[in-house]
Parts: sequence; structure tokens; C-alpha cells
Amino acid sequence: MADNWRQEYLRALPGVDVVLAAVRQAEGGRFPRPLLVRTVQEVIDGLRRRIMQATSREELAEFNSQPEAVAKEALARLRQLQRPSLQRVINATGTVLHTNLGRARLAEAAIEAMRRAAGYCSLEMDLPSGRRGLRHAHVERLLTALTGAEAACVVNNNAAAVLLALNTLAAGKKVIVSRGELVEIGGSFRIPEVMAASGARLVEVGTTNKTHYGDYEQAVDEETALLLKVHTSNYRVVGYTASVEVAELVELGRSVGLPVMEDLGSGLLVDLSAFRLEREPLVAERIAAGVDVLTLSGDKLLGGPQAGIILGKRAFLERIKKNQLMRALRPDKITLAALEATLQIYLFGDPLREIPVLAMLTISKDMLKRRAERLAAALRERAEGILTVDVREDYSFVGGGAMPLTRLPTFVVALRHKKMSQAEWVKKLRTGTPSLVGRVQDDWLLLDPRTIEEAEEEEVVACLT
Ligand SMILES: *Cc1c(COP(=O)(O)O)cnc(C)c1O
Repeated sequence: MADNWRQEYLRALPGVDVVLAAVRQAEGGRFPRPLLVRTVQEVIDGLRRRIMQATSREELAEFNSQPEAVAKEALARLRQLQRPSLQRVINATGTVLHTNLGRARLAEAAIEAMRRAAGYCSLEMDLPSGRRGLRHAHVERLLTALTGAEAACVVNNNAAAVLLALNTLAAGKKVIVSRGELVEIGGSFRIPEVMAASGARLVEVGTTNKTHYGDYEQAVDEETALLLKVHTSNYRVVGYTASVEVAELVELGRSVGLPVMEDLGSGLLVDLSAFRLEREPLVAERIAAGVDVLTLSGDKLLGGPQAGIILGKRAFLERIKKNQLMRALRPDKITLAALEATLQIYLFGDPLREIPVLAMLTISKDMLKRRAERLAAALRERAEGILTVDVREDYSFVGGGAMPLTRLPTFVVALRHKKMSQAEWVKKLRTGTPSLVGRVQDDWLLLDPRTIEEAEEEEVVACLT
């Protein structure tokens, strides 16, 4: 038989009881028995799959199914389960809204507010009257005061906001969108798919590079419910282009009796035009232009928790709040607490200092240079002989699908390990405690002080020495 070796390996697999005995030897009875049995079974199943998938005996050269080895693997998996899976990361990439690292770093006041709300809180109780209160009420006044909108509500993220608004305003009806604005955001948010999920019918007008007022005008018929504009937040169409400004769309909407909605994506609450950044639309400016419903993210340029914010005319917001889907998409107390505290900074505090995202975007090049040099000096002193250390000019990115063309001038610390291979070293830093993630460029590991808190600098040095 050609597969004799396979049978041999299968027969040699230990039984669960034998492995459990080996576990008791190694560890005593620290883990709950059902979990232990299940984990041992999973490890044995994995070994069996490897035997079945092997195409030759040589592939199993390093195969070890001794009971002690299986027990060791099972225990390692259980210990892994005891450690936090969400680990703190020092973001040295320079990408301010790093989606894979949790987008916005929250303001201190927001962190404090989440802690306060974590126990019992007045989420849905109006404390003076003792009656049932409204979840939306906690942030609605702040949002309307900041943006000039008549009304507001909050859901889990901007994808949910778009879904809910489209479902409320246009289920079973047509929604007109420019072909140049059929956006895809990382993590599978695509305008056509969200539209389909909402029950609305997408009507594309214009071309990828040019859409005119007349294109929208001609597409309107008695089945049309909404004119939609989508901010091309993570790409730009450049060259021979034309698109219709929001104000013109509002004018068309008025003349044909249709509401206008805009998915703004990031949404900026303060004017950053004094800094060398791409022009992003200001939320208040869009409200002033007369948009009926506006949606944006809480954790992009706003710098708050993951949330979707819906702003606009009272009549539409009333309908949105009453939609049955709202119950499935509503935010929890922790999110609302963090968002409230973040919005209060915009209204009463100093956002460019207190909102980390804005502070990182607007920090001066001089300051970045000083911080890179300070970090490099500490490393030269403490990691002499291990690291090659250099300071050089480079660029950081905004990230999070915002300001896609902006390269922010910065200074980085460029490092090379004198003994370890780069891949091995970078992995070691990434899997350390705390985890340190930088930017790899050719043979160098770059650390960008833009996204490293000053208080984290000492930890960075400790990670590297
Ligand atoms: C980011 C973005 C979304 C999705 O927002 P989330 O808060 O990530 O769900 C939707 N539309 C646009 C235009 C965006 O930029």
C-alpha cells in the first residue's frame, strides 16, 4: 500500500486520556476540565489533519505526536486565551488614523468619561424627573451647537449611519448618485452594496471623471426619493473632471421637491486651513449649504470613539430615530460617554491640544525634529553596539481613509539592528509587551515621533534596548 506511512502516523496519535494525564503531570488542575478536554481534542484533530494533508512522509519529518508535546501545545493555547487579545500598541508608524491599530487615539477626558459610564449611569433616565430619558439626548445638543444642524443622532459607525438614513428615506425607491462617487472604504463598505442592503435602488449618473447638474436633473422621476452625494474621502479624481457642488444639488433638490443627503466620511469640525493639509469639508459648512441629512464617522478626523453621526433637518431626523433598525444600530453607554467628552472639548476646550488626532496632525516640524533627536540620543547612548541610529526627514500619513494625498513632513529615527535579521527583529518588537509597531522602509525600521506620545518615549527606548 502506497500510504503505509500515513496509517503509521495515524495509529501513533495519542488518545485524549493519555494527553490529559500528561497535562496533569505538567500543570496540575489549573484549567476547567471541559475546556481542557476540548482543547486537547482540537490539538489532536489538527495533527490528524496534517497527516491527512501530507503528500509524502518527508513532509512529516518534524511531526511530534508524543503525549507530552500535545499537552504542551494545548497548555500554550489555554494560556494564550488568558492573555488580553486586544493589546496595547505603541504606534510609531506616523499614520495618525491607523485603522488596524484602532483609528483615533482618544482624548484623556474621553477615557475618563468611559470609565465613569462603565458602571450604572443615566443612559436612559432623566434624573430630575425620574422618568424615562432618551439615549440621543446626551450628545444631540452638543452636536447641533457645534454644527448648526437642527437635530442629530448617533449610531455604531458611519456605515450604520448611511444604511439607516437610506433605509428611512428611500427604501423601495431610487437614489441618484454620481459614478465618480461610488466609494469603497476598506473593510468592505461599498456604496452600491450598502444601498442594496438598505432596500433603496441605486441610480448611477454621469461618468467616473465627470458628472454634471443636468445628469442628476434628467435622472429624477416619480420613483426617486433622494439625491445622494458621497465624499471621495480615500481617493481623488484628478485631471479632466467635473462634479456637482453640494449647494447646487441642494438647489436641484428644492426645485424638484427631493431631499439631499451627503455621506461626508471623515467630517472635520474645526478649520485646519492654517496647516499644510488637504482641504476637507467642514461639517458646519455643509449644514449651512442646506444638506438635509449628513453622515460622518466619530473615529476619523473628529478624533472620538467609533460612532456614526447623523445630522440634519428635524423632520428627517425624527423619522430616522423612529426607524426599527435604530434599535439594532444604536450605540452603547461607553461610546456615548467618550463622544460626549470629545464634543465638549470642541465646544469649550482647546481641540488642537486636547484631541490627540488634531494635535498629531498639527504638531510643528521643529517639535518633531527635537523629539526624533531626543529619541535618537537616548538610543545611541543605551543601545550602542546593537543598533545603528540615524535621524532623517520623511513623511507621515493621515490614514483612516482621510486626506489621501497629504504627506506630512516629519523627522524619523531610522534604525538597523547589527545582529538580528530585520524580519526577526521587527516581529520581536511587534510581539513584545508593549507592542512597538514602526514603518519598515528598505533595510531600515523608521520610528515617527508624530504618533508616539511624549510619555511613551521612555517605553520605546526600553523596547529597543
Ligand atoms: C469611512 C467612511 C465610511 C465608513 O465609516 P465607518 O465609520 O468606518 O463605518 C463611509 N463613507 C465614507 C465616505 C467614509 O469615508
